[in-house]
This record gives sequence, C-alpha cells and structure tokens, in this order.
Amino acid sequence: MKAEIIAVGTELLLGQIVNTNAQYLSQRLAALGIDVYFQTVVGDNAGRIRSAIETARSRADLLIFTGGLGPTQDDLTKDVLAEYLGRKLVIHEPSLRKIEERLAGNLIRIESNRRQALMIEGSEPLPNEKGMAVGNALTADGTHYILLPGPPVEMQAMFDGPATRWLLRLLGESRPLHSLTLRFAGIGESALEHLLIDLIRGQTDPTIAPYAKEGEVAIRLSTKAADEAEAAAKLEETVRAIERLAGRYLYAKEDVPLEETVVGMLRASGRTAATAESCTGGLIAELITSVPGSSEAFAGGFVVYTNVMKRELLGLPAELLEGPGAPGAISGETAALMAERTLERCGADYALATTGVAGPSPAEGKPPGLVYVALAERGGRTDVHELKLSGGRDGVRLRAAKHALYRLWERMKESMTNF
Ligand code: ATP
Ligand code: MG
Repeated sequence: MKAEIIAVGTELLLGQIVNTNAQYLSQRLAALGIDVYFQTVVGDNAGRIRSAIETARSRADLLIFTGGLGPTQDDLTKDVLAEYLGRKLVIHEPSLRKIEERLAGNLIRIESNRRQALMIEGSEPLPNEKGMAVGNALTADGTHYILLPGPPVEMQAMFDGPATRWLLRLLGESRPLHSLTLRFAGIGESALEHLLIDLIRGQTDPTIAPYAKEGEVAIRLSTKAADEAEAAAKLEETVRAIERLAGRYLYAKEDVPLEETVVGMLRASGRTAATAESCTGGLIAELITSVPGSSEAFAGGFVVYTNVMKRELLGLPAELLEGPGAPGAISGETAALMAERTLERCGADYALATTGVAGPSPAEGKPPGLVYVALAERGGRTDVHELKLSGGRDGVRLRAAKHALYRLWERMKESMTNF
C-alpha cells in the first residue's frame, strides 16, 4: 500500500510550527510495512486542500490527514473531503455527548464545538482519547482516508489506537500488531544502523525500524504474531540478536528517556549524583530533575560558565584555566577536576561535568562541537571522554548532556555486574 501524509495548517507553511506529525506518522507507517511516497503540507484553504486531495489520489491509495478538525472556521479538512466525496457531514453522537460533558453546560462553546463531533457519512469514527474532535476513517472509490487532529498528543493516541486497528483490518490482518521499543544511548542513529545492518536487511517478522529521538536512538520492533505469547517469543529472539550486536548501548526495553533509567538505577542502588556544567548550562540537571522521584537521586549541581565561576564555586586553579601553556577551560583536565570538586562539595556518589564549545563560533581556539565529559565516582576512578559532536548549538548541548548520562548509566551497569 502506498500512503501520502497531508498535513493541513497555514502555521506549517509560515514556519511557525514544525511538521512533527508527518515524522511520527512516517515512522509508524514504516513499522506497519506501509510505504510513504509523499508528505504534503497545505494551508487552511479549501481550494488548495481539494487540489492536494486530487494530486494525492493520483499517486497513493491511503491519504492520512492531520490538522483542521477543530471547532473554528479555518478548520476545513472534514468539510472539504466530504464535499469532494459528495457526502454529508453527520453528528457522531458519543463525541457530541463528550463535548457537552467537557464544556459543562457552556451553551455558546458547545454550539461552536459541535463541529468537532462531525463525521463524514459512512465513515468509521476514530475516538479521540486526548481531546474532543472525532477522527474519521473511510474508503471511497478505492482510496482510503484517515483524518486525524493536529495537536500531536491527540494525533499520536488516535493513530496508535483506533486508526492502527482500522488499518490492520484493511490490510487483511485480523492479528493485532505487537510491538516493543528499544532505547539506545551513546551511539548515533547511523552507527547503530551500521551495527545492525544485516539484521535490518534480513528483517521480515518482526520488522525493525530505527529512528532518532531527542539526542538518542530508538528501535521499534513489530510483529503480527497470533497471540501475546507467540509475540513475546518472537520479539525476545530479535531483542537477543540486537543485544549481541549493540547491547552495550541498549539501556531500556521500553520507550523511556535515558534520564528516567538513570534516575531509576540511582534510586535502586541508594546512590546520588551531582553535576558541574559549563557548555550544557544546567541541561543535565534539568534532564535528571524532570524525572519524578529524582530528589532521592540528585544532590544538586553547579552551572559554572565563566572561568571566574569555575574558580569561585569549584576552586579550580587559575593556572589550569588560563595563561600560556595552560590546558584551558575547555580541556579534559578541567572537566576531570570539575567533576572531582563537585563530588567533594556535594557529597554525592557520582559527579558529572561538562566543558566544551557549543558553537557556533570557536572558543579558546577550539572548534564548535568539541566537548569534554567527565565522570567521577566516590572511592572510584575519574574518566574523561572527548566528544566531537555535530548538530548546531542545541544539538551539541543536548547530545553532550545525554552523553554524560550515558556514561553514568554505563558506570552503574559496570558496578552492578561487579557485585
Ligand atoms: P484544534 O482543535 O486544536 O484546532 P485541529 O485538529 O484543528 O486542532 P490544527 O488547528 O490544524 O488542528 O492545529 C492545532 C495545533 O496542533 C497547532 O497549533 C499545532 O500546535 C499542532 N499541529 C497541527 N499540525 C501539526 C503538525 N503537522 N505537526 C505538529 N504539530 C501540529
Ligand atoms: Mg484548528
């Protein structure tokens, strides 16, 4: 089956928002074995939405829309498609009742939000777990259509639930899709793909779909086994094959960010971490403290951007930081000492430190993307890692922070296997 994703929204064309829905859907469709040949973006304009439908119909069998299911006059997707197909819009009663309940008797708002309960006659309603607008799925004249809301949380829940079930029925699969997400750190998407290339090339069941995820990499495995037990066995076999090739980077067999795994391990072992950050400006601390329960695992951290702060707060010697022949603030020596001083000052079990050049300009004559990450451990050794990162300022900062967490995860795993 050939699919085309049509994202509707003038904000997308103006560059006010990024089309993350198309990225998400492309990844999901790949895992379902559906080929995406085109991604289209069209503004909130009836004539142009119509011509996007015509073009897409000429080259795809499945058209997936996101956006324009809301209550306002610029939300046109259902109206245009209904008119195009010569069908009426009818009220989906359960959705209307839900809207009435949510808006608790506010008659003016109920009247305008009624539009969100409309569906194309003869279509299958796709319930919206996270919002009010009902989605639609239908087949007309040999073309399949799925209409999803624009807000990503609503779109994702609707696609992964009712829309995927509808698609699987369409594909003649009574068997549900079982899937598992593996998360990796300390390795980039292409390097991971390289390690797994033979597995990925030979994949049939389960399918193996790698994708990049906020400074990390994930792999989604999907199988159409008859039942849970058969699925678990098939997935487990593939997981073992992946572990043999890339196990040292695999930190979770579920879809969780690295910081969650790290905080979980710290809490489980009753240990704490602290941070000293220069180029990441507090990002490691931010990632750790975004995890509920991190107060048991995180002592605190320093953001030491200037040399003065590095000297004042951490007591780093001036001759390390500046002067002829000094290693400089951006050096492995500085990173190591930042971590060791933080360990002492915070009384933590582990300390992570970063210093580097986030970019875009060089600093201390060193190139953007050069980052030193240090990890010190109470009663243990201090390691320093030199990284050459790409991805612009934001990319460098995020990757450096994630790399630091990866090193902490790696060290904790090492000490667990030593016990
Ligand atoms: P609403 O009920 O919120 O109006 P809607 O289904 O009409 O939902 P839109 O009005 O098109 O959807 O978009 C609502 C919001 O959803 C946008 O402001 C944007 O934040 C987000 N959004 C829409 N389309 C996309 C997209 N393709 N990728 C990422 N986010 C999107
Ligand atoms: Mg809208």
